[in-house]
Amino acid sequence: MGQPGIMEKLEILADAAKYDASCASSGTAKRNSSGGKGIGSTEGMGICHAYAPDGRCISLLKVLLTNHCIFDCHYCINRKSSNVRRARFTPQEVADLTLTFYRRNYIEGLFLSSGIIKSSNHTMEQMVETARILREDHDFRGYIHLKTIPEADPDLVHQAGLYADRVSINVELPTDAGLTRLAPDKNARQIEGAMGGMKMAIRQARDEKKRFKHAPRFAPAGQSTQMIVGADAATDADIVGRASRLYDGFRLRRVYYSAFSPIPDASAVLPLKRPPLVREHRLYQSDWLMRFYGFEAQEVMQATEADGNLPLDIDPKLAWALKFRERFPVDVNRSSREMLLRVPGLGVKAVNQIIAARRHRTLRLEDVAKLTVSVAKVRAFIVTADWRPTLLTDRADLRTLLAPKSEQLELFAA
Ligand code: SF4
Repeated sequence: MGQPGIMEKLEILADAAKYDASCASSGTAKRNSSGGKGIGSTEGMGICHAYAPDGRCISLLKVLLTNHCIFDCHYCINRKSSNVRRARFTPQEVADLTLTFYRRNYIEGLFLSSGIIKSSNHTMEQMVETARILREDHDFRGYIHLKTIPEADPDLVHQAGLYADRVSINVELPTDAGLTRLAPDKNARQIEGAMGGMKMAIRQARDEKKRFKHAPRFAPAGQSTQMIVGADAATDADIVGRASRLYDGFRLRRVYYSAFSPIPDASAVLPLKRPPLVREHRLYQSDWLMRFYGFEAQEVMQATEADGNLPLDIDPKLAWALKFRERFPVDVNRSSREMLLRVPGLGVKAVNQIIAARRHRTLRLEDVAKLTVSVAKVRAFIVTADWRPTLLTDRADLRTLLAPKSEQLELFAA
């Protein structure tokens, strides 16, 4: 068979990239090409985060440089022993595609990852070269996210940060034991070492930028990582604990979760079924509790069930509230912001509105109802001027009363 053409390679390599979830583009520096300088912008609103394998553009061109790989991670469709069609782009080809799609308004940037071809250093060089062509030869000012390779030389990983808005290094699995078993060529210490080096370089660049206006930019949108959920025996409590340590230890912008999906010719060490997608959703909700609602990882873990996993039928905030009913009801007219954020059904915006409104008047249940999607969910946990839940908070069947109906759950089911 002859060498595949560009569009055929794109079909193969965009499809191969679809398993990577870590490509959100929030938090980068503002750059644009207004005034006729350069090309591209990071300032567009409504940015989506992937390039679908059917050719539909959803804002980032999300592609692999190659799906050849010398590693043999069991969960990966591109592993050495996998029987898939292979393809490989040159850096120039990826740069040309990015510019072409950008000019056609299909995308706002590039998310580039890769299998390991020849060696980690060679692959990292090729990825850096792609970003260099875009930035230096074409003055491309759109968003670039580079997935870096922890086994590569730290100088190369550093160069990636000089060109990219965001860099990511995947921890892959929630536990070191899982990594050893399912990704035998990877090393947990090496991965965390690379993340530590990236953290230091980002911090140093920020300090220099404060002192010298023209100091080089370095990964202004920070670093992120991804964990695969459901490929090993790690529980949600394990995952939440690991995510929390990663946020604290490496100042990550995001930890992404990707529900393991069975692949063709899968290794016998993998589960046969994918976990329910709602599990990934519950983990993202727990991530929000830690990042925006003031929950400690330990508290999210308290919301798990006897098997260490978050319940699937209710969200983790409701699960926590049901376990700690002695903390409720809270008085919306008097309670601290911290406690209001614990009320199931009250989001950050609603809590801010409650705090602003109660300065001027005493709130009634109907006032709270206007701020939430479901006052039925909220009222068991609050007191207002005209409402007190009395025995409702402690009812044995409260979970059943508040759990969404099963048809809604199926929206998330595998
Ligand atoms: S290093 Fe592992 S996860 Fe990455 S492409 Fe190769 S086999 Fe897949």
